[in-house]
Amino acid sequence: MVVTFWGVRGSIPTPGPATCRYGGNTPCVTVEDGNTLIVIDCGSGIRVLGNSLLQRFNGNPVHAHILISHTHWDHIQGFPFFIPAFIPSNTFTIYGGEGVNHQIEDTLAGQMESPYFPVTLKEMAATLQFRHIDQPDFSIDHLKVKTCFLNHPGVSLGYKISSPDGSVVYFSDHEPYSRLMATPSRFKIAVENGLSEEENLRFAQERDAEYTRFCEGVDLLIEDSPYTPEEYKNRAGWGHACIDDVVAMAVAARVKQLALFHHDPSNSDEQMDGIVALCQTRLIPDDSNLTCFAAQEGQRVVVPAETEK
Ligand SMILES: [Zn+2]
Ligand SMILES: [Zn+2]
Repeated sequence: MVVTFWGVRGSIPTPGPATCRYGGNTPCVTVEDGNTLIVIDCGSGIRVLGNSLLQRFNGNPVHAHILISHTHWDHIQGFPFFIPAFIPSNTFTIYGGEGVNHQIEDTLAGQMESPYFPVTLKEMAATLQFRHIDQPDFSIDHLKVKTCFLNHPGVSLGYKISSPDGSVVYFSDHEPYSRLMATPSRFKIAVENGLSEEENLRFAQERDAEYTRFCEGVDLLIEDSPYTPEEYKNRAGWGHACIDDVVAMAVAARVKQLALFHHDPSNSDEQMDGIVALCQTRLIPDDSNLTCFAAQEGQRVVVPAETEK
């Protein structure tokens, strides 16, 4: 499988000289194996993907599967600018969980209604097929897809895509439970709900262990990790992870490669270099073979890594 990062930034597009190396587009990743093309999320990076597909297919029909993690704006805002969806010969199958009181197509159509946008979803001339994910496992061609609910405000889905050769997990956006439940405000809620300190901690650890099992042994984990432990203190409950927890989970799950993802919009390229260096210090006492990097726009990752073949 080949994984390509088209947008890696969380929350809002952040173009400019400070972000030109890691990139400023919001989440969009492709996973390709043989003739199967899977797109994950439709942040502003999908506009760049669209232009690339126009060149590559050169008028031939494009058929792709689009998995939506959730419909927060940074994960769908690029869809109205995805040119291949305006071409009649193309077909896109769009998968998503049921949002809070909203079906996925209603939410995609909503952001294209007046007064937000001049063209409606119905005017997109490609065939758009919507599939509501109502079971944890399904297949796309020869690839197996497994889903899980992430810990994020609203409903957010994590995806594991497996071929006979390798596997990729996409966790964006997600906040691990253990550090969250230990923060004073959350701990207070747990106590008010009648949980003891031990029960609160056990609940958090059991939930996090489920995510570790989900990621066990995967070749590439793409995980939302915008905050340092220091920054996390003021952002607990926002639905995103702190770097230390993401690295610890990747090590515990014996993941081969970890791509830090959904970078904070305020982080410059230099700050991103610092975050990668911080992750390396967390790995020094560890004897796993985890490779850790911060995803960059345009980056391609072969799964499994070519040296393992
Ligand atoms: Zn997001
Ligand atoms: Zn979100």
